[in-house]
Amino acid sequence: MKRDKLTDLLYYYDFKEMAQEKLKDITVPCMLVSLNISNFKYINNVYGFEKGDKLLAEMAKFYFHDNKYCILASRIHSDRFVSLVELADESLVGDMTENFAHISHEFIHRVEKDYPMAVLRMNSGVYLVKDVNESVSEMLDKAEVARRSIEDDYTQVACIYNEELEKKAKVEQYIIPLFEKALVEDDILVYLQPKIDIDTQTIVGAEALARMKDEDGKIIPPNMFIPVLEKYGLIMQLDMYVTRKVFRLLNSWHKAGKKLIPISLNLSRVDFRESSEWIDRVEQVEPLLVPRQYVEFEVTETVFFEDISMITNGVNKLRQRGFRISMDDFGTGFSSLNALGMLPLDCIKFDRGFVQNSIKNSKGLEIMSGLVNIFDKIDLDVICEGVETTCEEQIVRSCGCRQVQGYLHDRPLPIYNFEEKYIVDAVGA
Ligand code: C2E
Ligand code: CA
Ligand code: CA
Repeated sequence: MKRDKLTDLLYYYDFKEMAQEKLKDITVPCMLVSLNISNFKYINNVYGFEKGDKLLAEMAKFYFHDNKYCILASRIHSDRFVSLVELADESLVGDMTENFAHISHEFIHRVEKDYPMAVLRMNSGVYLVKDVNESVSEMLDKAEVARRSIEDDYTQVACIYNEELEKKAKVEQYIIPLFEKALVEDDILVYLQPKIDIDTQTIVGAEALARMKDEDGKIIPPNMFIPVLEKYGLIMQLDMYVTRKVFRLLNSWHKAGKKLIPISLNLSRVDFRESSEWIDRVEQVEPLLVPRQYVEFEVTETVFFEDISMITNGVNKLRQRGFRISMDDFGTGFSSLNALGMLPLDCIKFDRGFVQNSIKNSKGLEIMSGLVNIFDKIDLDVICEGVETTCEEQIVRSCGCRQVQGYLHDRPLPIYNFEEKYIVDAVGA
């Protein structure tokens, strides 16, 4: 049987066949382990391919050839390995992930002198074999789901596949086709939540929030589908869709002689990776008939500071066209007051968590009042999100904040209900 020259491991096709056979008469509990190096590209770039190859060969030796519990192993490609491993006594006791961390530590300790500039990080995803008749490729899929779940988490070395991950993977699998279908059928819902002026208790704007429906027509909240769309590079399509819907809505109010209110909508970091050309495409399909300051784009706080020049650039382009820009979720991440002065912003949205924490004690209240005061001086509007009671509303008002958005006034409403309640004729207003 041919073997991979570099690592002397089986090719994946042979591994699959042999593992399936072996599993038939194995009597001890086993696991299928997916392993890779999270920053292998970096190693190749910094040390060259030869040293990269050397690392892979050493990994194969340490993790598989010299491991008495390893039954079979294969290098799928590049730095992706899979192995069928007998569950050893020591991995059965205590926390199994701790064992993996220990092993990974030992390996890194052995090789790190050769790669002094790299922080090596090994990622393992583990699937405990329950049914020996299950196909090896399905087992590998699950082990990889587990491994990918910790890819961005620098504190984790291994993850054991469990029901929770299974549910998450299933959600991901059904969200994508559901989203694509909803896009084609124009069936993504846009809800509107009012923004209220505290003193006059009247509406001053609204935020557009996306919703999806599952096959039974049940509403899926954004925290279920936004991360999936971000992960699969589809979020821009959603944001373009919502933007178009908002334009269409404002146009329809304008045509019907209604009193207009500004509508804000959310953008993701991905929307700034490309040029601002997406907004041209939206405007071509749905030219906006009302002044652009009726549209506000909300950009989450953390995004601003990730890549300040790229984001500022993208945001600037939108603002130069006349759209308003707000910083969303203020107080959840890191905001440099210095940078705030330089960003092209019109409004700051205080996050619900920040508001709730601030109003708990006098120091928090002082900070909030101080911030509102500063933002006032540099002509930035402030709005408090997630205000649920009259008491909270009064407290934020005492800090100088004039606008709120929260369940106290309304939850996000379907457009029809929102219009019924809040949209009035321009003449009568
Ligand atoms: P966000 O931009 O911070 O939106 C505000 C969230 O707070 C909304 O959740 C809203 O329903 C909720 N909220 C409002 N008032 C209250 C309150 O009084 N109490 C509590 N507990 N919550 C309140 P929702 O609609 O579930 O949206 C969640 C997040 O999903 C949004 O957070 C936004 O980041 C994202 N999102 C929603 N629609 C879109 C979209 O079209 N595009 C993008 N990129 N993201 C979106
Ligand atoms: Ca928002
Ligand atoms: Ca927010």
